[in-house]
Amino acid sequence: MIQSVLENAIKISRPEALKGEVASYIPELGKADRRQLGISLFSADGGRFSVGDTKVRFSIQSISKVITLAVALERCGFDRIFENVGMEPSGDSFNSLIKLETCSSHPFNPMINSGAIAVAGYLEPLISFEEMLSLSRKLCRDEGIVLDEKVYGSESDHNSRNRAIAYLLENKGIIQNDVERTLDFYVKMCSLSVTAESLAGLGLLLAQNGVDRESGKQLLSPDTVRTVKTIMFTCGMYDGSGAFAVRVGIPSKSGVGGGILSVVDGRMGIGIFGPSLDAKGNSIAGKKALEYLSEKLGLHMFGAGQKTEGEMEE
Ligand code: GLU
Repeated sequence: MIQSVLENAIKISRPEALKGEVASYIPELGKADRRQLGISLFSADGGRFSVGDTKVRFSIQSISKVITLAVALERCGFDRIFENVGMEPSGDSFNSLIKLETCSSHPFNPMINSGAIAVAGYLEPLISFEEMLSLSRKLCRDEGIVLDEKVYGSESDHNSRNRAIAYLLENKGIIQNDVERTLDFYVKMCSLSVTAESLAGLGLLLAQNGVDRESGKQLLSPDTVRTVKTIMFTCGMYDGSGAFAVRVGIPSKSGVGGGILSVVDGRMGIGIFGPSLDAKGNSIAGKKALEYLSEKLGLHMFGAGQKTEGEMEE
């Protein structure tokens, strides 16, 4: 039954891709084929379902913010991270720096660039990128994750906006170590190449409060996972997080590479790849597919909703 729901999700969502565009502000991402779409769903009872382009490697981009935050919470502690990074949705685009300068002394949350760069600044002196790469492989259960050198080079060459954010953070005393090293760490994490399957693996780990299903090992503490999932729910879909929470009701994080990582608590992890994006930077077909899955499989965090008369007739 799950397999056929996924197949239908792909069928109804694929045409949506033609309404969006792939990200091109990082030139290498502009080469993606916007018609691609894949969904993987890994469930707590061991089910593994994949439909469409689920083995295609793409760059994780902002979804790496989830990994960086989780590792930073474990290494630096909750108080250190949230001393200078907020927990509130910003309502602005992911790479905005306007509120950072005009109405707040610190980034709104760790899922937007300013917050994630601040968190990278805390973590970078404590852990090497190689260690982060190997942790990412472990958390996603995917030994195939590598640094995509082309994306890394392309993003490094077109990184003025994040550089501006990082130097502003240094000016405010939030980044206290080397700014260029922090930026390099951040860009490398964004340039990890994953698949929809790797994201479903990470989603399942988070759904199971940090316990790896295969080995039974606790890879992340329950406190860390709870914080990460809550922030994904309120801030994970850029400035579309509120509407997504209402319509889909699943803690999720998207990236401009076209990925979406979703966590259905206690039940499953879902990974999506669909590089065509809406105006806010979310996978347009991926969002549609998740809305469909939420409805058909009853995945909304707050249960079934009240249908309108029109919807009930369908
Ligand atoms: N590396 C991207 C940037 O910093 C991440 C953006 C995203 O996926 O939201 O601009």
